[in-house]
Amino acid sequence: MTLLFAVPILLALVTSAEGQAQPPSPPAPQRQIAPPPGFLPPPLSPTGVVLESRRLAEGVYALLSNTPFADNAGFVVGADAVLVVDSHFNGEMGRQIIAAVRTVTDKPIRYLVNTNAFGDHIFGNYVFPKDTRIVATRRIVEALRGLTAQEVGRRMAATVGNDLTVFDGVELRLADETFEDEWSIDLGGRVVHVRYFGAGMSANDTVVYVPDARVAWTANLVFGAGTIPWAQVGGVAAYRATLARLAATWPIETIVPGHGIDGR
Ligand SMILES: [Zn+2]
Repeated sequence: MTLLFAVPILLALVTSAEGQAQPPSPPAPQRQIAPPPGFLPPPLSPTGVVLESRRLAEGVYALLSNTPFADNAGFVVGADAVLVVDSHFNGEMGRQIIAAVRTVTDKPIRYLVNTNAFGDHIFGNYVFPKDTRIVATRRIVEALRGLTAQEVGRRMAATVGNDLTVFDGVELRLADETFEDEWSIDLGGRVVHVRYFGAGMSANDTVVYVPDARVAWTANLVFGAGTIPWAQVGGVAAYRATLARLAATWPIETIVPGHGIDGR
């Protein structure tokens, strides 16, 4: 199996973390930590991004960006339906994900999981079929409620070189189905678990796991090689405790990080 990210690194990060036996569903983070002066956000522009489809197991595919920090995504195929992990940064990228699914199956994309409330993970939602159920922890929906795509996009302007035209046409489509900490689905002989483990990079980082393939999409909670973790919410201690809960919960063998794998 292709090891996209060395799990021992994750384990090393958390072996000394406190509170490994803490239950899930910790209190919501109280503060957001502003980046220091001079901070340069990661370059996330979707312009020119091509997602490479990499088969990790039967019916389990990573979609890896061909630029160093633009978002990765993925999809899982069961006997009855397909589940997509994240919709990327705009309609064009969302359509690229749908096209990648269609190269391997014509089964319906019945579920689309959003892993956080940032535009680069959710702005492609609106191009998915009307009968695709978008699933997210209620924390994500609450973070976005009342906002427009343009407002969310403006907050992310620095990540796209202030080229707001990349958001042209984007409509903010929120989840149809929300959960508190855990959600699971059987796609037909293929179970997928989705779970919130606590404060990490953001206040709503969500991990998607396929137990029979031991593959996890960690989104912004665990980045890939060459990137720097960013504890935007809750502090480093909370972040490490969250990683400890993740490591103690699932025997992950392969991580598809939300950013930081060069798919070329
Ligand atoms: Zn991200």
